[in-house]
Amino acid sequence: MSHQIAVIPGDGIGQEVTPAAVEVLETLDIDFEFVEGEAGDYVAEETGEPLPEATADLARDADATLFGAAGEHAADIILPLREIVGSYANVRPAKAYPGLNAVKPETDIVFIRENTQGVYSKIESEIADGVSTLTRVITRDASRKIAEYGFAYAEEHGYENVTIAHKANVMRETDGMFLEAAEDVAAERGADYDTALMDALAMKLVMNPEDYGVIITPNLAGDVLSDLAAGLVGGLGLLPSANIGDDNALFEPVHGSAPDIAGQGIANPSAMILSAAMLLDHLGYDEQSTRVTEAVEAVLADGPHTPDLGGDASTEAFTAAVIDQL
Ligand code: ATP
Ligand code: MG
Repeated sequence: MSHQIAVIPGDGIGQEVTPAAVEVLETLDIDFEFVEGEAGDYVAEETGEPLPEATADLARDADATLFGAAGEHAADIILPLREIVGSYANVRPAKAYPGLNAVKPETDIVFIRENTQGVYSKIESEIADGVSTLTRVITRDASRKIAEYGFAYAEEHGYENVTIAHKANVMRETDGMFLEAAEDVAAERGADYDTALMDALAMKLVMNPEDYGVIITPNLAGDVLSDLAAGLVGGLGLLPSANIGDDNALFEPVHGSAPDIAGQGIANPSAMILSAAMLLDHLGYDEQSTRVTEAVEAVLADGPHTPDLGGDASTEAFTAAVIDQL
């Protein structure tokens, strides 16, 4: 069965790291059809549209999308794209890859963040001069769905610890429902789990990250805690991410367009290639996904390294070394 992959490099180093990831995917013996779409500041300058309809259609029709990075118009590109793929889960591994100089090298956590609700529901208004309100929406269905995804992810990827993050002692109705729904799902699956108050969890993550595996969280808590954990493993530079929908998904590095080094051919393509590995995993190519991840880890451990990791290798040389490993 052939899979159609939409490839949207975007701005800055997206133009350099995205082709590197595609090159890696092309060396695997999988029937992928890549269709490339344009989006970004450079497109907005020419046409006034940062995300042309044709590109949105490509992402809509594809089985999965690889997205590089967006600059000034990031919000006008990535938010609609996440909506197009119907992303209900944001998956953010915080793993101490070699070469990151991790503060906590034993960290291997995957955040499964609810991606549609909570305080990011955009139901905000200024109800009177100087008084603004925000409505926090949590539904049982969406909470069950993220919990199902999180527990299944833990099972498939061999994570023994699953933690449900919440603040149900204060937000009794909303996080109360989130917690109850997630616990129901755990009971139905016969799965073990812990619960953690999100503020205490922030402290424990800093002190003992090795105690955690998969963390299932509401939207805002997941946003904050996953960045916190990125700090534990040495920053955003090498980290991949996934936005999972029902029959579509989008994979992107956590870093941005890095205009300071764009166009020089020296960007580190690790985060993008690891995002491609997440794409493989999502589409059921588990074995190939593991091989790609291990190939990146091997090159990060032994070089060649790009300048951000103290080496002088180009994006191309790094990518060639990964392909060599494969
Ligand atoms: P944006 O506005 O698109 O978010 P930014 O200026 O915030 O761009 P980031 O991409 O977030 O830049 O990166 C922050 C810093 O990390 C920059 O100095 C950038 O050069 C560096 N950086 C980010 N990604 C990479 C990468 N893949 N390889 C090497 N350096 C990187
Ligand atoms: Mg940035």
